[in-house]
Amino acid sequence: MYYDGDADLGVLAGKTIAIIGYGSQGHAQAQNLRDSGLEVVVAQRPGGPNHALAVSHGFQPVSVEEAVKQADVVNILLPDELQADVYRTSIRPHLKPGAVLMASHGFNFHFGQVEPPPGHDILLVAPKGPGHLVRSEYVKGGGVPCLIALGPGASPETKKIGLAYAKGIGGTRGGVIETTIAEETETDLFGEQVVLCGGVSELIKAGFDTLVEAGYQPEMAYFECLHEMKLIVDLFYQGGLEYMRYSVSNTAEYGDYTRGKRIITEETRKEMRKILEEIRSGQFARDWILENRGGAAMFKSTRRRERQHPIAETGRRLRRMMKWIDSKEV
Ligand code: NDP
Ligand code: MG
Repeated sequence: MYYDGDADLGVLAGKTIAIIGYGSQGHAQAQNLRDSGLEVVVAQRPGGPNHALAVSHGFQPVSVEEAVKQADVVNILLPDELQADVYRTSIRPHLKPGAVLMASHGFNFHFGQVEPPPGHDILLVAPKGPGHLVRSEYVKGGGVPCLIALGPGASPETKKIGLAYAKGIGGTRGGVIETTIAEETETDLFGEQVVLCGGVSELIKAGFDTLVEAGYQPEMAYFECLHEMKLIVDLFYQGGLEYMRYSVSNTAEYGDYTRGKRIITEETRKEMRKILEEIRSGQFARDWILENRGGAAMFKSTRRRERQHPIAETGRRLRRMMKWIDSKEV
């Protein structure tokens, strides 16, 4: 693990960092770096709320080309599925000699969608949390832990730049772990597909559907299967599974030990290994890239359908009544 004392912001003194995209990660990293005293130029297309946001935060957003031309470090913080095109048309032709190419997720580096010409190192600094936390933790004096990884053949100087960058966004306050681009990419995809997004969403929906189909009120099902998830996860976060089990009733703990394994069965674990293999072989990446070439038709229609699931409708209604939860509506 690397902490503040292992990183020297001076390595980035006199260098310009281009933040490409002022979205979730972009707005957080750009502001943290600037507050850490570093030189930042933001690239953000005009016309949308993120452009207005960058301006209201005191940046003067420029085009991608313009930002890249000035930069010694270029961090691509666009949605993963757009990075390859923007890289080809607007980044690669304008890179300054020796400029370091960065990202916050290894997808495009690992699967060969962004390949820099010789003389440019690849560097990954991946915050292990959403952008708004990267910003809010930094403002509080903390930081979201980060991963750092170097592309093949990258110089020791690039590693120092990576540690300085991680310090600039607050990452070394939380701790920085060194990894490889392959490990970051594969574990990140696995985590979001199997546990964090795919696994949890389907688990919640299945629990909700089971109760509603059995005739229980959707409001009850929503509270039991979705709302309370946060309370449980907060306990995991503070003290691991054992602290959750310590905090809940003995009845809940007994139900956990005796029933949980009937939900996540050997068959489920087998499927997890299959999904991991699809990630490692590049099959998932190919599916996602092709989906986008086809205008993301399936992605968009699934998103629309999911927003109409009864749990979504029930939740919208209930959350409007819970003034204290800072509810959001998509
Ligand atoms: P967002 O979707 O929040 O931000 C997207 C940015 O790209 C916005 O500035 C957006 O501008 C711009 N953009 C979108 N479409 C286009 C386009 N067609 N042309 C030009 N600009 C466009 O991205 P994230 O911050 O979520 O993700 C950025 C990177 O960070 C990804 O590699 C992701 O994997 C990684 N990451 C994200 C995390 C997260 O929690 N979100 C966590 C860790 C890593 P506009 O507003 O005009 O659309
Ligand atoms: Mg992740």
